[in-house]
Amino acid sequence: MLRWLFPETCQLCGAEGRGSTLCPDCRAALARVPRPICLRCGAPVYGTAALADVCDACRDHAPDYAFARAALNYSEEAMSLIHDLKYHGQNHLARALAPLLAELWEQHPPLRQQRDWVLIPVPVTRKRLHERGYNQAEELARALGRLLHLPLMQALERHDTGIASQTRLNAARRERNARAAYRPLAAYASGKRCLPAHLLLIDDITTTGATARACCRALHRLRPDALIGSLALMRMN
Ligand SMILES: [Zn+2]
Ligand SMILES: [Zn+2]
Repeated sequence: MLRWLFPETCQLCGAEGRGSTLCPDCRAALARVPRPICLRCGAPVYGTAALADVCDACRDHAPDYAFARAALNYSEEAMSLIHDLKYHGQNHLARALAPLLAELWEQHPPLRQQRDWVLIPVPVTRKRLHERGYNQAEELARALGRLLHLPLMQALERHDTGIASQTRLNAARRERNARAAYRPLAAYASGKRCLPAHLLLIDDITTTGATARACCRALHRLRPDALIGSLALMRMN
């Protein structure tokens, strides 16, 4: 019935009936993160820095996560898809976008070294959840979990810090704001539930990495020996 009402056409080029809201050609054409990258934070590295495995920023101040990776580099096309997923109620797009996250398994050996990853979506505030009806990161994590047969777990919550959007903040304020915003859910904080050992944070967009670092810190407080990776669909810079 839904398929009859909304035949599956590609959100980008309008091609019809190829079984997805993102056709294989448009998915393949989305800009990936250029190589080489820092093996820790996943940022592209240029010039002589490209000879090292880890970028200057990570060498000077190692992040809490074991590794962070993004599937896509910023592009208008990717941004419009994420925008539709996030703000226009098109949560079905998560299914079309999840294969891009799954691609990371082919490219990054650390992801293949563990088989028992548990996916942890980066939470949104209760207010956002109420407005949108869903958390886009959770939709992505669920679709990815279905593709790779990995379980999903809600372990964190996001508190309203009274600041409308992270995007308008400078890096230092973002960091402070993020640290205050993400906390473990009560069941984990009280010790009623235990965190698994291998965790992957899932988010739609990464900008400065402040969110991933803050979530990671909150998870490490519960389980200091946890191995935590962070995956985002797109990096902004
Ligand atoms: Zn297309
Ligand atoms: Zn780095």
